Amino acid sequence: MSTKLTIGVLSVQGGVAEHVRMVEKLGHEAVLMRRTEHLASIDGLILPGGESTTMSRLLRLGGMIEPLREAIQGGLPAFGTCAGMIMLATTVLDTRPDAESLGVIDVTVRRNAFGRQRDSFEGELDFTGIANPVDSVFIRAPQIEEVGEDVQVLATVDERVVAARQNHVLVTSFHPELTEDLQVHQYFVEMIRSSR
Ligand code: GLN
Repeated sequence: MSTKLTIGVLSVQGGVAEHVRMVEKLGHEAVLMRRTEHLASIDGLILPGGESTTMSRLLRLGGMIEPLREAIQGGLPAFGTCAGMIMLATTVLDTRPDAESLGVIDVTVRRNAFGRQRDSFEGELDFTGIANPVDSVFIRAPQIEEVGEDVQVLATVDERVVAARQNHVLVTSFHPELTEDLQVHQYFVEMIRSSR
């Protein structure tokens, strides 16, 4: 029997409810992560989409940057979508000079990288490690411009990297949580299981 996991969804800003819905649909418990005390009781953490500069500012005000960084560096599995991906990256381009990121996946990310015409779009993507094409929604999405040696590229759109993984950290430029497709969240659940 597979055990039920407790998955935190970072709840300072952005599209929290959609991730909660995905976690619950997969039969796991979702907890809203608003304070660092919650870190002790979760098996994995999802960082949602939203506005990364605002998320950064609120995390800084709440004294959460360092505890989050330490928890993830210490092995807490993390999954960031869109702004959440920006928050996990080591290097962020086209952002505010005072915006901070957690730097737990060795990628260079450019914010709002898909130009005007492709500002928002939806499509099916081949995703390494997932059997069927993944339904994906892009909204003012970032792209990954460089990946470090230990980073595995999982999906691309027109040769641009839009999903990647380094050990227990997973990032996507897009929002699987805005679709009915549970495969990427299931992939994250398996990452948590194999890291335990
Ligand atoms: N453009 C946003 C940012 O830079 C991300 C958009 C999103 O999360 N849908 O933070």
